[in-house]
Amino acid sequence: MPVKTTCPYCGVGCGVVADRDADGKVTVSGDREHPANFGRLCSKGSALAETIGLEGRLLAPLMNGQPATWDDALDHVAGQFARIIREHGPDAVAFYVSGQLLTEDYYVVNKLSKGFVGTANIDTNSRLCMASSVVGHKRAFGSDTVPGCYEDLEQADLLVLVGSNSAWCHPILHQRMLAAKEKNPACRIVVIDPRRTATCEGADLHLPLRAGSDVMLFNGLLAYLAGNNVIDRDFVGNVTSGVADALAQVAGQTVARTAGACGLTEGTLELFFDWFARTERVVTLYSQGVNQSTSGVDKVNAIINCHLLTGRIGRPGMGPFSLTGQPNAMGGREVGGLANQLAAHMDLENAAHRDIVQRFWRAPVMAEKGGLKAVDMFDAIADGRIKAVWIMSTNPVVSLPDADRVRAALDACELVVVSDCMRHTDTTRHAHVLLPALAWGEKDGTVTNSERRISRQRPFLPPPGEARADWRIVCDVARRMGYAGFDYAAAAEVFREHAELSGFENGGRRDFDISALATCDDQAYEALEPVQWPVTRDAPSGTARMFETPHFFTPDHKARFVAVKPRAARNATSRDYPLVLNTGRVRDQWHTMTRTGKTARLLSHIFEPYAEFHPEDARMAGVKHDGLARLTSPWGKMIARVVVTSEQRRGCVFVPMHWNEEFAGAGRVNALVNPAVDPLSGQPESKHTPVKADPF
Ligand code: SF4
Repeated sequence: MPVKTTCPYCGVGCGVVADRDADGKVTVSGDREHPANFGRLCSKGSALAETIGLEGRLLAPLMNGQPATWDDALDHVAGQFARIIREHGPDAVAFYVSGQLLTEDYYVVNKLSKGFVGTANIDTNSRLCMASSVVGHKRAFGSDTVPGCYEDLEQADLLVLVGSNSAWCHPILHQRMLAAKEKNPACRIVVIDPRRTATCEGADLHLPLRAGSDVMLFNGLLAYLAGNNVIDRDFVGNVTSGVADALAQVAGQTVARTAGACGLTEGTLELFFDWFARTERVVTLYSQGVNQSTSGVDKVNAIINCHLLTGRIGRPGMGPFSLTGQPNAMGGREVGGLANQLAAHMDLENAAHRDIVQRFWRAPVMAEKGGLKAVDMFDAIADGRIKAVWIMSTNPVVSLPDADRVRAALDACELVVVSDCMRHTDTTRHAHVLLPALAWGEKDGTVTNSERRISRQRPFLPPPGEARADWRIVCDVARRMGYAGFDYAAAAEVFREHAELSGFENGGRRDFDISALATCDDQAYEALEPVQWPVTRDAPSGTARMFETPHFFTPDHKARFVAVKPRAARNATSRDYPLVLNTGRVRDQWHTMTRTGKTARLLSHIFEPYAEFHPEDARMAGVKHDGLARLTSPWGKMIARVVVTSEQRRGCVFVPMHWNEEFAGAGRVNALVNPAVDPLSGQPESKHTPVKADPF
């Protein structure tokens, strides 16, 4: 019987149909009825059936490398967490979770941490992917709201992709954009990226800006729009605030000055500005090239400012659009699974919001201040402030910046608990307790994609070995710690509680509201069709586009311009480290390859870590195409295959972030990446680390 579920990889959130025959053989195809992909799948999604074998799976609990019963393992985790909290306080423990978790998993671990343990030391690998967009949205709209929907991309006449290699990282959405352009010859695509990526192939214009100069560029655009009177005066006057300060910030910023600062020709930049000015239906999509920066939040607001000035938001075919990297980065935000958030898009540092959540949860104690964000969390583990950490469904020894320090931190930690579906990862090696979790195809719950669309992940495989759902493992520990409120019988029950909380004392004051789903019974949950939040009594079928009535979630209900000033990256290049390292994804791998690395078909695209050099930089460094290079930064080293290409901007090196020690002993790029973070979002600057290269 075919089962409809959702792809577990990127934030496009494609619908998948999985069919298991009588012999247990699984085939996977795109779900023609799913509004994210209408039947299409990219190379990663098409290879899903090749990744579901049990080789390498963690199938029973282990304590200190030895098999253990679930009871012993859970008693140990609960007992040690309780002891450490008693002896050192709640902030001595932490949870590091993942955008791979389902919303139901995320909900219960956030509830346990913030409402029962009483610490906000819960953060997630989503911190690495879109935390800057969250803060940018909240500064502009008063809420973490993605205004638009995928259909806007098909209705736009200008698509501006900033810091996004969507052809490789959001392939199905990229295909939708190319198809829309084919149907609408008036539609143009502009790519703003220091590298000439695969995304540039279908574009009308590529702006290879100087790494990190995005604020300068969008401030220049704001000045150009204002100077050419491209202002929606009604919109700006009636439903925004702060325009005077934003325009004062960019006053006198000419095209020539902007072009010089961004390393672009004046003619190319003016062409883009002219297109933006003349085209009403503009969507500006942005991703990690914007977010992963020490000025990531400012970059987001610089983009949003241009949409506010022109009133291009909340209408078909226009708006700023943050593309989330992970399949459930959005679901994690909805439940408040970041160290500076509370559940249901409420604010941790807002006493009224804490009171609402505490009463709803009947929580004994609430965290009252923001917890440690990802990079700071592992610093606190390294210096002993955090004595126990529970890592769920993620591999920080590969994916966090300054990754060797992360590894050393785990070695020094009193208790490391890892729940994962895989036995051997760079992180599981450091675990004292390993708890076997269900994987895609076995899990049951929901995820939310980049356009606020909630879709079901449904199981079509039996639970293997002793593996359990993540939400259930968390509840098993919570009950052993003596906490009430963790007696869910199924994922559907968790979902109903999450939906009910979203509407609890809301009254339209908060953007995230799916209260109309709180009454869905098990059958309705099973049959839940993909739906975009808010889903309320007034909008029972969901909401495609936000701010159609320009009512924002700020105190005065006006959208806010934010005056942003360009800042240099935290760590500048020098004579010793003359190149800028930029990390990112390749087309056929996902995260740290624990799943996609299982399939020969996907590995055949690119099978080893590589570093892309501009020909002149390769010559200066003495490295040759197809040879090996050693890359060194003040934080670490790696070895990579050299690719020399003029598509790389001079002075920059690109290295993919996927390879772990299993596939490439010295190929973990995050060992080099600097741990500087955006001061507001805590998102690391993964796109700008000074490095040097030598032949190896
Ligand atoms: Fe999966 Fe993303 Fe590919 Fe869709 S585009 S099939 S969600 S990896």
